[in-house]
Amino acid sequence: MPVVPLKFRPHQDGLLLFADDAGGYFKSDHAFLRRYACDQLTSGDLAFLHVNGHAYNAVGDLAYSGFEHRFAERLYLPREMDYVILVPTLRCNLACGYCQVSRVNEATPGFDWDDSTVEAVIGFLDSLSARKIKVEFQGGEPLLRLDVIERIRDFCSQRFDACELVICTNLQEVSDPAWDLLGRDDVFVSTSLDGNRMTHQKQRTILPGKTDQFFLHLDFAVSRLGSEKISALPTIDPRNAPSPEEVIETFLNYDIRSIYLRPVNYQGFARKKFDARGSADLWNRYHASFIDALVEHNWSSAVPVEEYYFVHCLRRVLRSGHNGHVDLRNPNIVGHGYVVIDYDGKIYPTDEARMVTRIGQFDMSMGDVFRGISAETIDRLNAEALNNFHPDCVHCPYQAFCGVDLVDDISRYGRIDMPKHMTDFCQRHTSIFDRIFAMIYSDDPKVKKTLALWAGTSHFDPLLAKVHQ
Ligand code: SF4
Repeated sequence: MPVVPLKFRPHQDGLLLFADDAGGYFKSDHAFLRRYACDQLTSGDLAFLHVNGHAYNAVGDLAYSGFEHRFAERLYLPREMDYVILVPTLRCNLACGYCQVSRVNEATPGFDWDDSTVEAVIGFLDSLSARKIKVEFQGGEPLLRLDVIERIRDFCSQRFDACELVICTNLQEVSDPAWDLLGRDDVFVSTSLDGNRMTHQKQRTILPGKTDQFFLHLDFAVSRLGSEKISALPTIDPRNAPSPEEVIETFLNYDIRSIYLRPVNYQGFARKKFDARGSADLWNRYHASFIDALVEHNWSSAVPVEEYYFVHCLRRVLRSGHNGHVDLRNPNIVGHGYVVIDYDGKIYPTDEARMVTRIGQFDMSMGDVFRGISAETIDRLNAEALNNFHPDCVHCPYQAFCGVDLVDDISRYGRIDMPKHMTDFCQRHTSIFDRIFAMIYSDDPKVKKTLALWAGTSHFDPLLAKVHQ
């Protein structure tokens, strides 16, 4: 009976975790590995592998077709373009130390869309075939160009069947008309909240008065708009991080129960200020301690909290089709489902590509709103944007759940052919998936409770933790 290729990795209890290309997994021991490698599988081994979808009788039989289907379901297929990130200005009223976008001072001229750019952006939006659209405004501080946001919103609400707007704002200066805009049903707020007051002030607002102003605005936003319309992202410097408990408490004060921890990034201004290139190990330790703190919190609290990206990875392990996060897909085709339009009308496949270009590393633009998209460079990049054939990934049991981020590789290493295990991307994801499988195979009732909460089930099904001996 043919067996599909299995990849394996030591598990923390001395056993091995095995997984196939379609994301099916189980634990077994070194004796099984020897039998598998030496073609000496027993009838018991084969029965286990067949029942669990890792073996088939003949190409084309039900077991084989099922495996092929599961494999295909794991792959990301880009949709029509229905998501556009707009940068109407690079000007900002803060100067955060880690700012990724190389912002400019609020009064600097020449970094805003002029009328012809606004018209060309509207023309670009008009050319899309999607019936629904999501438009995210970034900056700089996009609320400095409320007029542009209103114009784009007016156009989109007439042109598309449905339109959702996300305003990525620092909530530092919010005028009455801006509050009116943020209060509309189709508008959502994304802001930064760097863990606790002290860290937020150190990394972002600097002056106590400005810090007060931000927290006042955040309070007001939560009470007026509701916490479900606000996402607040903490950017964490792992060398100087607030304790996980403090971060959880701060977010719960605003009834925000999903926390998306982000390491300070090695892009834009952060490149100069922080040595964030080789900090995966530090980050992994902080992130692991954060998961520990969440497990403790969820055990005794009636208000469960999640770490957004960890839960996203968990869901990718448990089910196919979780391709909603642009940083974790395979293949990670960029420049198709969404694009970024910069302050000068240039189009980029991702926000990170915009930053790589802005600091002069590589030109990763793909045309502009005046002349249209020319995707030659991006198509060449996309030809490499999958992990199925990478020499490290083909041996990795996490390959079906993982992805690629070539723009991040270019930004950090100036190349896309680094051995994967040496990349920040791989080191961070190996750590996350190690932790996920440690939790899946844990007997600790606290861990089981949190896993069930994060998986969206009443209890964590033991069938998800198969062991073959
Ligand atoms: S990037 Fe690393 S963790 Fe992800 S599949 Fe490749 S080897 Fe595995």
